[in-house]
Amino acid sequence: MNLSNENSAEKLHIQTIAVHTGYNSNSLDGDIMQPIHLATTFKRKVDGTMNDYSYTRSNNPNREAVEKKIAAIEGGSEAFAFSSGMAAINALFENILEPGAHIIIPDDCYHGTRNLLDKFFIRWKVDFSEVDMTDTKNVADAIKSTTRLIWMETPSNPQLKIVDIEAMTSIARQNKITIACDNTFATPLLQHPLLMGVDFVMHSSTKFFSGHSDVLGGVIIVKENTAISERLREYQQIAGAVPSPFDCWLLNRSLATFPIRIPLQCNNAMALAKHFISHPKIEKVFYPGLPGHINHKIAVKQMQGGFGSILSILVKGGKQEAINFAGKLRIFKHATSLGGVESLVEHRRSAEGAHPLSPDNLLRISVGIEYIDDLVNDINQALE
Ligand code: PLP
Repeated sequence: MNLSNENSAEKLHIQTIAVHTGYNSNSLDGDIMQPIHLATTFKRKVDGTMNDYSYTRSNNPNREAVEKKIAAIEGGSEAFAFSSGMAAINALFENILEPGAHIIIPDDCYHGTRNLLDKFFIRWKVDFSEVDMTDTKNVADAIKSTTRLIWMETPSNPQLKIVDIEAMTSIARQNKITIACDNTFATPLLQHPLLMGVDFVMHSSTKFFSGHSDVLGGVIIVKENTAISERLREYQQIAGAVPSPFDCWLLNRSLATFPIRIPLQCNNAMALAKHFISHPKIEKVFYPGLPGHINHKIAVKQMQGGFGSILSILVKGGKQEAINFAGKLRIFKHATSLGGVESLVEHRRSAEGAHPLSPDNLLRISVGIEYIDDLVNDINQALE
């Protein structure tokens, strides 16, 4: 896939953008890699006016560089980096929803997003409908005169449901409602919601963008500059939930290898999904790449770069069997989060807080870049 370079009409491949976009050395040292700008404040010009940077909450060279790279990777006009995925979601909700507004979210939405609405936006009397978005009619039926936002997550967390992005965009357009997509699971290497008509894309950059489980971050990418995107920039600078220069630097560095990490992770996940499906101790496998997955056809249509590296399984028996399996694994670690180079497994229900939705025997697996035979052998010994 080709995306345009910020500085020229030349079309560059995502692999090239991920290495180069966002930083051109202009220092006397000619450093090839951007240094970390730890300064919180920057000198004004002799005439008293501001230079490009004034104060790090407003902007910082490392944040600017990573935002440019992410905007280009996702095919948007501008990106806004935040200190976590939840801070990014909160920023978008604060600027699109008003008191008394209505929002439609997926019925198996990331539990943090649901919590944000349930615990905090409730003070604004924001009303939310949780809808099975795999049937677009459910979304059309849920629209009210107060609906301001349709929030998609595809694939969803943790049941890997797939939403038809184009169909959903067309419903949003017909009803003049803003539409946003949490693209954390798919990443722009697999799917491009902005090119399919979505207004805002959000990422927990803690996950695949960082890829090494050592940076917390979130980002919103806009298709084009609008009054809302200008407000988002102001909100980011004033509310101040911004990532540190070091986190931006780490994220920028990690993004360089993102287009080569993802295909390997997807291949490993597909191989594991196929392995699990024929295993006598596994009841069910949720992976959109399997022909038997309920939304496989839509996944084939819109996930053109692969089916992702997250899968969920139901272990035969119940919670105890699932926990025992997770505990016996040697290479996979039992921990929350996903998208890193290392394989993780998690008993989701016990991580879902006050409104758990996952079956008790569900384990979510984030597949890393380890050698596939080692992963398969680890699973076999743990299921023995
Ligand atoms: N969206 C999805 C799909 C997630 O999985 C997560 C975290 O797990 C988030 C958003 C929130 O991101 P963060 O943990 O970076 O705040």
